[in-house]
Amino acid sequence: MHALIIGGGIIGLSTAYYLREDGWEVTVLEKGDLTDNCSFGNMGYLSPSHFVPLAAPGIVEQGIWWMFDQKSPFYVRPSLRWELVDWGLKFVRASTQRHVDRSARPLTELLLFSKKMFQSWAAEGQLQFDLQEQGCLMYYQSAKKEKEELENARQAEALGLRVEVLDGEQVRALEPEVLPEVRGGVWFKDDAHLYPNALMQQLPTLLEQRGVRILRHSEVTGFERSNGKISAVQYQPEGAEPVAIRPDLVVLAAGSWSPAVARLAGEYLPLMPGKGYSMTLEHPQKKLRYPCILLEAKVALTPWQGRLRIGSTMEIGPINDRILLPRVQGILEAVPKFLPGYRSDPVFTALADPQQLKQQLREKVWFGFRPVSADGMPYIGFARNNQNLLIATGHAMLGLSLGAGTGKVVAELAAGRPTSVPLEAFDPRRY
Ligand SMILES: Cc1cc2nc3c(=O)[nH]c(=O)nc-3n(C[C@H](O)[C@H](O)[C@H](O)COP(=O)(O)OP(=O)(O)OC[C@H]3O[C@@H](n4cnc5c(N)ncnc54)[C@H](O)[C@@H]3O)c2cc1C
Repeated sequence: MHALIIGGGIIGLSTAYYLREDGWEVTVLEKGDLTDNCSFGNMGYLSPSHFVPLAAPGIVEQGIWWMFDQKSPFYVRPSLRWELVDWGLKFVRASTQRHVDRSARPLTELLLFSKKMFQSWAAEGQLQFDLQEQGCLMYYQSAKKEKEELENARQAEALGLRVEVLDGEQVRALEPEVLPEVRGGVWFKDDAHLYPNALMQQLPTLLEQRGVRILRHSEVTGFERSNGKISAVQYQPEGAEPVAIRPDLVVLAAGSWSPAVARLAGEYLPLMPGKGYSMTLEHPQKKLRYPCILLEAKVALTPWQGRLRIGSTMEIGPINDRILLPRVQGILEAVPKFLPGYRSDPVFTALADPQQLKQQLREKVWFGFRPVSADGMPYIGFARNNQNLLIATGHAMLGLSLGAGTGKVVAELAAGRPTSVPLEAFDPRRY
């Protein structure tokens, strides 16, 4: 039996891993070279702490407010394009407490399961991706954020997650070099982090050694359909004639490009790209010990053996290569405000000089497009109009966290086995 996977990001490659383990002949079609997708430069968090889907009460009001601030961490590029309007209406409708209450448990279960799958990859020893199980700290400076985060911590505990609340002094004792200037923090101890660049570099090699065929620079351009199934997938290899493959099963894991590919197969997938930026400092002057999120600024920091990655922003809008400097500047400015230890680091002192800043940003900034579903919950399951099409996308800000777990449950669905965790909340046919 032959499975064809569209997209070589973390979701497509994890799916290839488990389908191959189940004995499928597996082909991955990837339009790029596997290094220019969203799975590479992300923050590397495995985040059971993020059990609240993006569509949640308050996000719409906050988002509208932020649209008037050039440096804000959340932005919707206004447009009358039908896809954005439809996505926006669905997103607003989904942003309710009822949706959060319904989604938190299935999301937590998949997050914890996925972490277990990454732990098994690390234990196998063939992939070295620096998995660290230190948890993640959420820092707050204001009483308002503290109140919100303590409520989040309470819900996390109710879901069975390990959480510790720390005051400012306790936080500073954990981070003696950067001395966070915060009221306190919540330490989500089930969170972990890994180095995504290493994982995404090694995974294709491992898969190829195990017999997976990965075709780079091969963009899927169309489908043939008969009797309610996909009978052929057409792709365009770079500089060559179009080719058609006749697989038994197709998995759509094309990240932010998925709606366009789905449309070619007669499927509708409400999903928008959510652009985010990250910067990696190779030799920061001070050592951050634990990954952390600066809550008011919505900025995340991840340390790996000497390196520090800083990331943030969610710009909802069509895919484009523009780097919005004020937004990146907003990310950088937040760091020394929360972590005074970085005030003398050249990356942050350069903020005072606009020219230097421009140069630094262009050299250091990476961006990727999170595939954001209309209710903030991934789409995992069989498609509506094609019996042999499985959809695995829409993971938004949790694609890495949910990567290995998604691969495993997709393989279980493909085999017709019961899935390791319930998937009803992720059914792509909900729209
Ligand atoms: C700044 C930032 C920080 C983040 N931090 C985290 C984090 O800490 N933890 C976390 O869990 N998540 C994080 N994320 C989100 C995470 O990176 C994404 O959810 C995840 O990478 C999505 O993976 P994917 O495989 O669905 O998509 P992608 O990685 O984008 O892969 C999709 C692939 O499909 C290919 N493709 C598209 N169209 C076609 C076609 N027609 N034919 C063939 N191939 C095609 C693309 O070229 C691409 O390689 C972050 C994202 C950003 C931007």
